[in-house]
Amino acid sequence: MSTLSRRNFIKLAATSSVAGLGVYGCAANAKKKSSGGGHVVVIGGGAGGTIAAKYIRKMDQNIKVTLIEKNADHSTCFMSNWVLAGIRDLDSITHSYDKLASNHDIKIVHDTVTEIDAAGKKVKTAGGKSIAYDRCIVSPGVSFRWDTIEGYDEAASHKVPHAWFAGEQTTLLHKQLQAMSDGGLVVIAAPPNPFKCPPGPYERASLIAHYLKTKKPKSKVLILDAKDKFSKQGLFTAGWEKLYPGMIEWRSKANDGKVLGVDADKRVAMTEFDEIEADVLNVIPAQKAGHIAEAAGLTDDTGWCPVHHNTWESKIHPGVHVIGDAAIQSPLPKSGYAANSEAKVCAAAVVALLNGEEQSTPSWVNTCYSLIGPNHGISVAMVYNLTAEGKVGKVKGSGGLTPKDGNNALEAVYAKSWYTNIIVDMFS
Ligand SMILES: Cc1cc2nc3c(=O)[nH]c(=O)nc-3n(C[C@H](O)[C@H](O)[C@H](O)COP(=O)(O)OP(=O)(O)OC[C@H]3O[C@@H](n4cnc5c(N)ncnc54)[C@H](O)[C@@H]3O)c2cc1C
Repeated sequence: MSTLSRRNFIKLAATSSVAGLGVYGCAANAKKKSSGGGHVVVIGGGAGGTIAAKYIRKMDQNIKVTLIEKNADHSTCFMSNWVLAGIRDLDSITHSYDKLASNHDIKIVHDTVTEIDAAGKKVKTAGGKSIAYDRCIVSPGVSFRWDTIEGYDEAASHKVPHAWFAGEQTTLLHKQLQAMSDGGLVVIAAPPNPFKCPPGPYERASLIAHYLKTKKPKSKVLILDAKDKFSKQGLFTAGWEKLYPGMIEWRSKANDGKVLGVDADKRVAMTEFDEIEADVLNVIPAQKAGHIAEAAGLTDDTGWCPVHHNTWESKIHPGVHVIGDAAIQSPLPKSGYAANSEAKVCAAAVVALLNGEEQSTPSWVNTCYSLIGPNHGISVAMVYNLTAEGKVGKVKGSGGLTPKDGNNALEAVYAKSWYTNIIVDMFS
Protein backbone atom coordinates (compact mmCIF):
# COMPACT_ATOMS: atom_id res chain seq x y z
CA MET A 1 0.00 0.00 0.00
CA SER A 2 1.45 3.40 -0.85
CA THR A 3 1.57 6.13 1.77
CA LEU A 4 -1.29 7.85 -0.03
CA SER A 5 -3.49 4.78 -0.10
CA ARG A 6 -2.74 4.09 3.55
CA ARG A 7 -3.81 7.64 4.39
CA ASN A 8 -7.05 7.05 2.51
CA PHE A 9 -7.45 3.77 4.33
CA ILE A 10 -7.31 5.48 7.72
CA LYS A 11 -9.87 8.10 6.73
CA LEU A 12 -12.21 5.52 5.23
CA ALA A 13 -11.79 3.07 8.10
CA ALA A 14 -12.72 5.72 10.59
CA THR A 15 -15.60 7.38 8.82
CA SER A 16 -17.39 4.52 7.11
CA SER A 17 -20.89 3.17 7.76
CA VAL A 18 -22.17 3.18 11.33
CA ALA A 19 -23.49 -0.34 10.82
CA GLY A 20 -19.87 -1.48 10.43
CA LEU A 21 -20.13 -2.96 6.95
CA GLY A 22 -18.14 -0.14 5.39
CA VAL A 23 -15.26 -0.65 7.80
CA TYR A 24 -14.92 -4.25 6.76
CA GLY A 25 -15.41 -3.67 3.05
CA CYS A 26 -12.92 -0.81 2.99
CA ALA A 27 -10.18 -2.82 4.64
CA ALA A 28 -10.75 -5.75 2.33
CA ASN A 29 -9.87 -3.46 -0.58
CA ALA A 30 -6.56 -2.42 0.97
CA LYS A 31 -3.50 -3.36 -1.10
CA LYS A 32 -0.97 -5.66 0.53
CA LYS A 33 2.48 -4.21 1.07
CA SER A 34 5.88 -5.84 0.82
CA SER A 35 8.31 -4.24 3.23
CA GLY A 36 11.25 -4.90 5.49
CA GLY A 37 8.95 -6.52 8.04
CA GLY A 38 9.34 -6.54 11.81
CA HIS A 39 7.51 -8.20 14.70
CA VAL A 40 4.49 -6.72 16.49
CA VAL A 41 3.25 -8.18 19.76
CA VAL A 42 -0.39 -7.41 20.56
CA ILE A 43 -1.55 -7.91 24.16
CA GLY A 44 -5.25 -8.65 24.62
CA GLY A 45 -7.60 -10.33 22.12
CA GLY A 46 -10.71 -8.22 22.67
CA ALA A 47 -12.34 -5.48 20.60
CA GLY A 48 -9.07 -3.54 20.10
CA GLY A 49 -6.39 -6.26 20.03
CA THR A 50 -8.00 -8.59 17.46
CA ILE A 51 -8.48 -5.69 15.02
CA ALA A 52 -4.97 -4.27 15.45
CA ALA A 53 -3.44 -7.72 14.86
CA LYS A 54 -5.58 -8.46 11.82
CA TYR A 55 -5.23 -5.07 10.08
CA ILE A 56 -1.44 -4.97 10.44
CA ARG A 57 -1.36 -8.30 8.62
CA LYS A 58 -3.82 -7.04 6.00
CA MET A 59 -1.71 -3.92 5.38
CA ASP A 60 1.75 -5.49 5.41
CA GLN A 61 2.24 -9.23 5.08
CA ASN A 62 5.97 -8.96 5.88
CA ILE A 63 5.24 -7.88 9.44
CA LYS A 64 4.84 -10.82 11.80
CA VAL A 65 2.15 -10.51 14.45
CA THR A 66 1.84 -12.39 17.73
CA LEU A 67 -1.40 -11.89 19.69
CA ILE A 68 -1.18 -12.83 23.39
CA GLU A 69 -4.56 -13.47 25.03
CA LYS A 70 -5.08 -15.07 28.42
CA ASN A 71 -8.38 -16.81 27.59
CA ALA A 72 -8.90 -19.68 25.13
CA ASP A 73 -11.93 -17.91 23.64
CA HIS A 74 -13.61 -14.54 24.03
CA SER A 75 -17.07 -13.75 25.40
CA THR A 76 -17.97 -10.25 24.27
CA CYS A 77 -19.23 -7.77 26.81
CA PHE A 78 -21.40 -6.38 24.03
CA MET A 79 -24.66 -8.31 24.05
CA SER A 80 -23.94 -9.74 27.51
CA ASN A 81 -26.90 -7.66 28.79
CA TRP A 82 -29.01 -9.57 26.26
CA VAL A 83 -27.91 -12.81 27.91
CA LEU A 84 -29.13 -11.50 31.29
CA ALA A 85 -32.56 -10.97 29.74
CA GLY A 86 -32.59 -14.45 28.17
CA ILE A 87 -32.67 -13.01 24.62
CA ARG A 88 -29.33 -14.73 23.83
CA ASP A 89 -27.22 -17.38 25.52
CA LEU A 90 -23.57 -17.12 26.51
CA ASP A 91 -22.43 -19.55 23.79
CA SER A 92 -23.78 -17.23 21.10
CA ILE A 93 -21.54 -14.37 22.30
CA THR A 94 -18.43 -16.56 22.81
CA HIS A 95 -15.96 -16.72 19.91
CA SER A 96 -12.87 -18.73 18.99
CA TYR A 97 -9.60 -17.24 17.71
CA ASP A 98 -9.03 -20.07 15.20
CA LYS A 99 -10.22 -18.28 12.04
CA LEU A 100 -8.45 -15.04 12.95
CA ALA A 101 -5.20 -17.00 13.32
CA SER A 102 -5.52 -19.11 10.17
CA ASN A 103 -7.03 -16.48 7.83
CA HIS A 104 -4.32 -13.92 8.58
CA ASP A 105 -1.37 -16.02 9.71
CA ILE A 106 -1.36 -14.48 13.18
CA LYS A 107 0.41 -16.40 15.92
CA ILE A 108 -1.94 -16.64 18.90
CA VAL A 109 -0.41 -17.38 22.30
CA HIS A 110 -2.84 -18.16 25.12
CA ASP A 111 -0.99 -16.86 28.17
CA THR A 112 -1.08 -13.90 30.58
CA VAL A 113 1.43 -11.11 30.01
CA THR A 114 3.03 -10.22 33.35
CA GLU A 115 5.70 -7.75 32.26
CA ILE A 116 6.44 -5.36 29.40
CA ASP A 117 10.13 -4.45 29.21
CA ALA A 118 9.84 -1.31 27.08
CA ALA A 119 13.59 -0.61 27.13
CA GLY A 120 14.51 -4.20 26.19
CA LYS A 121 11.52 -4.48 23.78
CA LYS A 122 10.20 -7.76 25.10
CA VAL A 123 7.24 -9.10 27.06
CA LYS A 124 7.19 -11.85 29.66
CA THR A 125 4.30 -14.17 30.36
CA ALA A 126 3.01 -16.14 33.35
CA GLY A 127 3.81 -19.29 31.36
CA GLY A 128 7.53 -18.37 31.37
CA LYS A 129 7.82 -17.07 27.80
CA SER A 130 9.92 -14.07 26.80
CA ILE A 131 8.84 -12.62 23.45
CA ALA A 132 10.79 -9.86 21.69
CA TYR A 133 9.04 -7.19 19.62
CA ASP A 134 9.76 -4.21 17.41
CA ARG A 135 6.48 -2.54 18.41
CA CYS A 136 3.97 -3.60 21.07
CA ILE A 137 0.23 -2.82 21.08
CA VAL A 138 -1.56 -3.11 24.43
CA SER A 139 -5.36 -3.51 24.56
CA PRO A 140 -6.10 -5.12 27.95
CA GLY A 141 -9.41 -3.38 28.70
CA VAL A 142 -10.27 -2.20 32.21
CA SER A 143 -9.74 -3.44 35.75
CA PHE A 144 -11.67 -2.50 38.90
CA ARG A 145 -10.80 -0.06 41.67
CA TRP A 146 -11.72 -2.61 44.33
CA ASP A 147 -10.97 -0.15 47.13
CA THR A 148 -13.80 2.27 46.34
CA ILE A 149 -16.85 0.46 47.83
CA GLU A 150 -16.45 -0.84 51.37
CA GLY A 151 -17.15 -4.56 51.61
CA TYR A 152 -17.00 -5.09 47.85
CA ASP A 153 -13.95 -6.95 46.57
CA GLU A 154 -13.27 -9.82 44.19
CA ALA A 155 -14.40 -12.42 46.76
CA ALA A 156 -17.68 -10.51 47.34
CA SER A 157 -18.29 -10.47 43.56
CA HIS A 158 -18.86 -14.25 43.69
CA LYS A 159 -22.01 -13.54 45.76
CA VAL A 160 -22.90 -10.10 44.39
CA PRO A 161 -21.85 -10.17 40.71
CA HIS A 162 -20.57 -7.20 38.75
CA ALA A 163 -21.11 -9.00 35.41
CA TRP A 164 -18.88 -6.32 33.82
CA PHE A 165 -16.67 -8.97 32.24
CA ALA A 166 -18.73 -11.42 30.21
CA GLY A 167 -18.58 -15.11 31.12
CA GLU A 168 -19.07 -16.72 34.55
CA GLN A 169 -20.19 -13.42 36.05
CA THR A 170 -22.92 -13.03 33.41
CA THR A 171 -24.17 -16.55 34.14
CA LEU A 172 -24.16 -15.89 37.90
CA LEU A 173 -26.27 -12.73 37.59
CA HIS A 174 -28.62 -14.43 35.10
CA LYS A 175 -29.16 -17.34 37.52
CA GLN A 176 -29.84 -14.99 40.42
CA LEU A 177 -32.50 -13.21 38.34
CA GLN A 178 -34.07 -16.55 37.44
CA ALA A 179 -34.12 -17.63 41.11
CA MET A 180 -35.68 -14.36 42.36
CA SER A 181 -39.37 -14.46 43.34
CA ASP A 182 -41.97 -12.27 41.67
CA GLY A 183 -42.16 -8.97 43.53
CA GLY A 184 -38.41 -8.87 44.18
CA LEU A 185 -36.14 -5.81 43.98
CA VAL A 186 -33.14 -5.77 41.62
CA VAL A 187 -30.58 -3.10 42.56
CA ILE A 188 -27.88 -1.99 40.10
CA ALA A 189 -25.02 0.17 41.43
CA ALA A 190 -23.73 2.19 38.45
CA PRO A 191 -20.11 3.43 38.47
CA PRO A 192 -18.61 6.93 38.27
CA ASN A 193 -17.04 8.21 35.01
CA PRO A 194 -14.98 7.19 33.15
CA PHE A 195 -15.95 3.54 32.70
CA LYS A 196 -16.37 0.86 30.05
CA CYS A 197 -19.59 1.32 28.02
CA PRO A 198 -21.30 4.51 29.25
CA PRO A 199 -24.85 3.32 28.29
CA GLY A 200 -24.21 -0.25 29.60
CA PRO A 201 -25.76 -0.04 33.11
CA TYR A 202 -28.93 1.56 31.69
CA GLU A 203 -29.28 -0.98 28.88
CA ARG A 204 -28.86 -3.60 31.60
CA ALA A 205 -31.65 -2.06 33.72
CA SER A 206 -33.89 -1.98 30.62
CA LEU A 207 -33.31 -5.59 29.62
CA ILE A 208 -33.65 -6.86 33.19
CA ALA A 209 -36.98 -4.97 33.29
CA HIS A 210 -37.96 -6.71 30.05
CA TYR A 211 -37.20 -10.09 31.63
CA LEU A 212 -39.10 -9.20 34.81
CA LYS A 213 -42.10 -7.80 32.90
CA THR A 214 -42.48 -11.09 31.04
CA LYS A 215 -41.64 -13.49 33.93
CA LYS A 216 -42.06 -11.64 37.28
CA PRO A 217 -44.18 -8.54 36.63
CA LYS A 218 -44.52 -7.40 40.27
CA SER A 219 -40.74 -6.88 40.52
CA LYS A 220 -38.82 -3.58 40.34
CA VAL A 221 -35.39 -2.31 39.28
CA LEU A 222 -33.59 0.42 41.23
CA ILE A 223 -30.46 2.06 39.78
CA LEU A 224 -28.23 3.66 42.42
CA ASP A 225 -25.89 5.96 40.53
CA ALA A 226 -22.52 7.52 41.34
CA LYS A 227 -23.34 10.17 38.68
CA ASP A 228 -25.94 12.89 38.13
CA LYS A 229 -26.50 12.19 34.44
CA PHE A 230 -25.87 9.36 32.01
CA SER A 231 -25.51 8.52 28.33
CA LYS A 232 -28.67 8.71 26.17
CA GLN A 233 -30.58 9.60 29.35
CA GLY A 234 -33.59 11.22 27.62
CA LEU A 235 -34.03 8.25 25.28
CA PHE A 236 -33.67 5.70 28.07
CA THR A 237 -36.16 7.40 30.39
CA ALA A 238 -38.69 7.85 27.55
CA GLY A 239 -38.29 4.15 26.70
CA TRP A 240 -38.75 3.12 30.34
CA GLU A 241 -41.96 5.15 30.62
CA LYS A 242 -43.28 3.58 27.43
CA LEU A 243 -42.27 -0.06 28.00
CA TYR A 244 -41.95 -0.43 31.78
CA PRO A 245 -44.06 2.28 33.46
CA GLY A 246 -43.31 2.48 37.21
CA MET A 247 -40.88 -0.44 37.06
CA ILE A 248 -37.46 1.29 36.87
CA GLU A 249 -36.32 3.94 39.35
CA TRP A 250 -33.07 5.91 38.90
CA ARG A 251 -31.51 7.62 41.89
CA SER A 252 -28.78 10.13 41.04
CA LYS A 253 -25.66 10.84 43.10
CA ALA A 254 -27.18 14.18 44.22
CA ASN A 255 -30.21 12.22 45.44
CA ASP A 256 -28.11 9.90 47.66
CA GLY A 257 -27.58 7.39 44.84
CA LYS A 258 -23.86 6.71 45.28
CA VAL A 259 -23.18 3.29 46.83
CA LEU A 260 -20.45 3.56 49.47
CA GLY A 261 -20.65 0.10 51.02
CA VAL A 262 -22.00 -3.39 50.42
CA ASP A 263 -22.92 -6.29 52.69
CA ALA A 264 -22.55 -9.12 50.21
CA ASP A 265 -24.07 -11.80 52.49
CA LYS A 266 -27.25 -9.81 53.07
CA ARG A 267 -27.28 -8.20 49.59
CA VAL A 268 -27.48 -4.75 51.14
CA ALA A 269 -26.23 -1.60 49.37
CA MET A 270 -25.32 1.34 51.61
CA THR A 271 -25.44 4.97 50.52
CA GLU A 272 -24.69 7.98 52.74
CA PHE A 273 -28.18 8.05 54.28
CA ASP A 274 -29.79 4.75 53.31
CA GLU A 275 -29.46 0.97 53.43
CA ILE A 276 -31.27 -0.87 50.65
CA GLU A 277 -31.84 -4.62 50.84
CA ALA A 278 -31.97 -6.14 47.37
CA ASP A 279 -33.19 -9.53 46.20
CA VAL A 280 -30.60 -9.35 43.42
CA LEU A 281 -27.70 -6.92 43.79
CA ASN A 282 -25.43 -6.02 40.85
CA VAL A 283 -22.48 -3.77 41.73
CA ILE A 284 -20.36 -2.25 38.95
CA PRO A 285 -17.30 -0.70 40.64
CA ALA A 286 -15.21 2.29 39.52
CA GLN A 287 -12.61 1.42 36.87
CA LYS A 288 -9.05 2.00 35.66
CA ALA A 289 -6.82 0.56 32.92
CA GLY A 290 -6.23 -3.22 32.88
CA HIS A 291 -3.63 -4.58 35.33
CA ILE A 292 -0.84 -5.10 32.81
CA ALA A 293 -1.00 -1.44 31.72
CA GLU A 294 -0.57 -0.36 35.33
CA ALA A 295 2.15 -2.97 36.03
CA ALA A 296 4.08 -1.85 32.93
CA GLY A 297 4.03 1.79 34.08
CA LEU A 298 1.86 2.88 31.15
CA THR A 299 -0.71 4.66 33.37
CA ASP A 300 -0.57 8.15 34.87
CA ASP A 301 -2.18 9.30 38.10
CA THR A 302 -5.66 9.10 36.51
CA GLY A 303 -5.24 5.31 36.31
CA TRP A 304 -5.48 5.41 32.49
CA CYS A 305 -2.80 5.48 29.75
CA PRO A 306 -1.79 8.77 28.12
CA VAL A 307 -1.10 8.35 24.38
CA HIS A 308 -0.30 10.41 21.29
CA HIS A 309 -3.57 10.13 19.41
CA ASN A 310 -2.08 10.20 15.91
CA THR A 311 -0.34 6.86 16.59
CA TRP A 312 -1.71 5.70 19.99
CA GLU A 313 1.93 5.41 21.09
CA SER A 314 2.37 5.76 24.84
CA LYS A 315 3.53 9.17 26.10
CA ILE A 316 5.46 7.27 28.77
CA HIS A 317 7.05 4.30 26.96
CA PRO A 318 8.02 4.82 23.30
CA GLY A 319 7.52 1.75 21.13
CA VAL A 320 4.46 0.68 23.12
CA HIS A 321 0.99 1.67 21.86
CA VAL A 322 -2.18 1.55 23.99
CA ILE A 323 -5.66 1.34 22.47
CA GLY A 324 -9.20 0.60 23.63
CA ASP A 325 -10.63 1.12 27.09
CA ALA A 326 -7.20 1.37 28.78
CA ALA A 327 -6.20 4.50 26.85
CA ILE A 328 -7.09 8.12 27.59
CA GLN A 329 -9.25 8.73 24.52
CA SER A 330 -12.03 11.13 25.56
CA PRO A 331 -14.16 12.43 23.85
CA LEU A 332 -14.10 8.98 22.22
CA PRO A 333 -16.02 6.75 24.64
CA LYS A 334 -14.76 3.50 26.15
CA SER A 335 -16.72 1.34 23.70
CA GLY A 336 -16.06 -1.66 21.48
CA TYR A 337 -16.70 0.33 18.32
CA ALA A 338 -14.31 3.09 19.43
CA ALA A 339 -11.69 0.41 20.24
CA ASN A 340 -12.19 -1.00 16.72
CA SER A 341 -11.67 2.44 15.17
CA GLU A 342 -8.62 3.19 17.37
CA ALA A 343 -7.11 -0.21 16.47
CA LYS A 344 -7.32 0.49 12.74
CA VAL A 345 -5.67 3.89 13.12
CA CYS A 346 -2.99 2.38 15.38
CA ALA A 347 -2.36 -0.53 12.98
CA ALA A 348 -1.81 1.89 10.07
CA ALA A 349 0.51 4.05 12.20
CA VAL A 350 2.55 1.02 13.35
CA VAL A 351 2.94 -0.19 9.75
CA ALA A 352 4.07 3.30 8.69
CA LEU A 353 6.52 3.56 11.61
CA LEU A 354 8.05 0.14 10.90
CA ASN A 355 8.51 1.14 7.27
CA GLY A 356 9.89 4.58 8.07
CA GLU A 357 7.03 6.17 6.16
CA GLU A 358 5.06 9.34 6.72
CA GLN A 359 2.10 8.95 9.05
CA SER A 360 -1.39 9.94 8.07
CA THR A 361 -3.84 12.24 9.82
CA PRO A 362 -6.47 9.98 11.34
CA SER A 363 -10.14 10.28 12.17
CA TRP A 364 -12.41 7.92 14.11
CA VAL A 365 -16.04 6.87 14.33
CA ASN A 366 -18.22 5.49 17.09
CA THR A 367 -21.80 4.27 17.31
CA CYS A 368 -23.26 2.81 20.49
CA TYR A 369 -26.52 0.93 20.09
CA SER A 370 -28.54 -0.02 23.16
CA LEU A 371 -31.67 -2.10 23.45
CA ILE A 372 -34.41 -0.92 25.79
CA GLY A 373 -36.51 -3.92 24.74
CA PRO A 374 -35.85 -6.68 22.16
CA ASN A 375 -37.52 -4.55 19.48
CA HIS A 376 -36.78 -1.09 20.85
CA GLY A 377 -33.30 0.20 20.03
CA ILE A 378 -31.60 3.58 20.44
CA SER A 379 -28.20 4.84 19.35
CA VAL A 380 -25.66 7.62 19.61
CA ALA A 381 -23.08 8.22 16.87
CA MET A 382 -20.18 10.62 16.34
CA VAL A 383 -17.20 11.18 14.02
CA TYR A 384 -13.95 12.43 15.54
CA ASN A 385 -10.81 14.00 14.10
CA LEU A 386 -7.35 15.02 15.25
CA THR A 387 -7.31 18.59 16.57
CA ALA A 388 -4.48 21.06 15.93
CA GLU A 389 -3.27 20.22 19.47
CA GLY A 390 -2.99 16.53 18.50
CA LYS A 391 -5.98 15.43 20.58
CA VAL A 392 -9.21 13.68 19.64
CA GLY A 393 -11.99 16.18 18.86
CA LYS A 394 -15.61 15.87 17.77
CA VAL A 395 -16.39 16.76 14.15
CA LYS A 396 -19.01 19.51 14.31
CA GLY A 397 -22.29 18.56 12.68
CA SER A 398 -21.51 14.83 12.61
CA GLY A 399 -23.32 12.10 14.50
CA GLY A 400 -26.33 12.48 16.75
CA LEU A 401 -28.94 10.56 18.70
CA THR A 402 -31.96 8.54 17.65
CA PRO A 403 -34.73 11.16 17.26
CA LYS A 404 -37.48 11.11 19.91
CA ASP A 405 -39.97 9.98 17.27
CA GLY A 406 -37.38 7.73 15.57
CA ASN A 407 -37.94 4.18 14.38
CA ASN A 408 -36.90 2.19 17.46
CA ALA A 409 -37.80 -1.15 15.85
CA LEU A 410 -35.35 -0.42 13.02
CA GLU A 411 -32.68 0.70 15.51
CA ALA A 412 -33.04 -2.72 17.21
CA VAL A 413 -32.44 -4.40 13.83
CA TYR A 414 -29.35 -2.21 13.32
CA ALA A 415 -28.08 -3.16 16.80
CA LYS A 416 -28.21 -6.87 15.94
CA SER A 417 -26.60 -6.22 12.55
CA TRP A 418 -23.84 -4.15 14.23
CA TYR A 419 -23.01 -7.14 16.42
CA THR A 420 -22.83 -9.53 13.45
CA ASN A 421 -20.52 -7.14 11.59
CA ILE A 422 -18.14 -6.39 14.43
CA ILE A 423 -17.80 -10.09 15.23
CA VAL A 424 -16.89 -10.88 11.61
CA ASP A 425 -14.36 -8.05 11.76
CA MET A 426 -12.83 -9.33 15.02
CA PHE A 427 -12.79 -13.10 14.59
CA SER A 428 -12.42 -13.95 10.90
C1 LIG B 1 -22.42 -4.92 29.58
C2 LIG B 1 -21.58 -4.29 28.49
C3 LIG B 1 -22.15 -4.00 27.27
C4 LIG B 1 -21.40 -3.40 26.27
N1 LIG B 1 -22.00 -3.10 25.08
C5 LIG B 1 -21.30 -2.47 24.12
C6 LIG B 1 -21.93 -2.14 22.88
O1 LIG B 1 -23.11 -2.41 22.66
N2 LIG B 1 -21.18 -1.50 21.95
C7 LIG B 1 -19.86 -1.19 22.14
O2 LIG B 1 -19.25 -0.62 21.25
N3 LIG B 1 -19.25 -1.49 23.31
C8 LIG B 1 -19.93 -2.12 24.29
N4 LIG B 1 -19.31 -2.43 25.48
C9 LIG B 1 -17.92 -1.97 25.72
C10 LIG B 1 -16.88 -2.89 25.11
O3 LIG B 1 -17.04 -4.20 25.60
C11 LIG B 1 -15.47 -2.41 25.44
O4 LIG B 1 -15.38 -1.01 25.30
C12 LIG B 1 -14.44 -3.07 24.53
O5 LIG B 1 -14.53 -4.47 24.68
C13 LIG B 1 -13.04 -2.58 24.81
O6 LIG B 1 -12.10 -3.26 24.02
P1 LIG B 1 -10.62 -3.50 24.58
O7 LIG B 1 -9.86 -4.16 23.50
O8 LIG B 1 -10.10 -2.27 25.18
O9 LIG B 1 -10.83 -4.50 25.81
P2 LIG B 1 -11.55 -5.91 25.87
O10 LIG B 1 -12.48 -6.10 24.73
O11 LIG B 1 -12.10 -6.01 27.26
O12 LIG B 1 -10.38 -6.95 25.67
C14 LIG B 1 -9.33 -7.08 26.56
C15 LIG B 1 -8.70 -8.45 26.35
O13 LIG B 1 -7.39 -8.45 26.93
C16 LIG B 1 -7.19 -9.69 27.60
N5 LIG B 1 -6.14 -9.43 28.61
C17 LIG B 1 -6.16 -8.50 29.62
N6 LIG B 1 -5.01 -8.51 30.28
C18 LIG B 1 -4.22 -9.45 29.69
C19 LIG B 1 -2.90 -9.92 29.94
N7 LIG B 1 -2.15 -9.44 30.94
N8 LIG B 1 -2.40 -10.90 29.15
C20 LIG B 1 -3.14 -11.43 28.13
N9 LIG B 1 -4.41 -11.02 27.86
C21 LIG B 1 -4.93 -10.03 28.63
C22 LIG B 1 -8.57 -10.01 28.18
O14 LIG B 1 -8.69 -11.40 28.46
C23 LIG B 1 -9.48 -9.56 27.03
O15 LIG B 1 -9.74 -10.60 26.10
C24 LIG B 1 -20.04 -3.09 26.50
C25 LIG B 1 -19.44 -3.40 27.73
C26 LIG B 1 -20.21 -3.99 28.72
C27 LIG B 1 -19.57 -4.32 30.05
